[in-house]
Amino acid sequence: MHEDVERVLIDEGVIEKRLDILAERVMREFRGRELMVVVILKGALVFTADLLRRLPIPLEIECLNVASYHGGTESSGQVDFLDAKLPPVEGRFVLVVDDILDTGRTLAAVEKMLWEQGAQKVKSCVLLSKDKERAAEVEADFVGFGIGDEFVVGYGLDFQGLYRNLPYIGVLKEEVIGELS
Ligand code: 5GP
Ligand code: MG
Repeated sequence: MHEDVERVLIDEGVIEKRLDILAERVMREFRGRELMVVVILKGALVFTADLLRRLPIPLEIECLNVASYHGGTESSGQVDFLDAKLPPVEGRFVLVVDDILDTGRTLAAVEKMLWEQGAQKVKSCVLLSKDKERAAEVEADFVGFGIGDEFVVGYGLDFQGLYRNLPYIGVLKEEVIGELS
């Protein structure tokens, strides 16, 4: 375990098994369709890469740069689209993938944008969903794991840009958050 991690919440083996089940469900939903996967960067990068390798169906990948945390451990409340061009989703069957559903603002804003851009169908998949009241009324169609309302890192999720490469989901030591904040 990394020395900055207080405890592991979900280990690598458990994540892998869950991905098999999620992939099955996504396949069932989009069978016979050409899928467009919209990855919300950077947090969903690791999760999406592992999920897509379990989806032997025709699909394209588009990336979306969205910021809401601005480096800290609390959502800023504002969702910014950082790309010069939005993904070409008109008439497409879209699966949005994010790392974690927290206040719901990111997913709500992204789904709204995709519908406005003319997507034919929009479904969402998140690795983690925090069990809490959402600021925006939204839930994901496919959820890896429900977790408590605490700040987690690893498997794509960062703190101050670090820890995305941990192969598990973990909670940082309090003194690490204090030092880097
Ligand atoms: P929401 O808009 O639902 O509040 O937040 C979604 C985004 O906030 C996620 O895509 C993720 O980037 C970030 N986020 C929310 N909770 C956590 C967390 O516990 N850890 C990390 N590293 N990022 C989080
Ligand atoms: Mg994110």
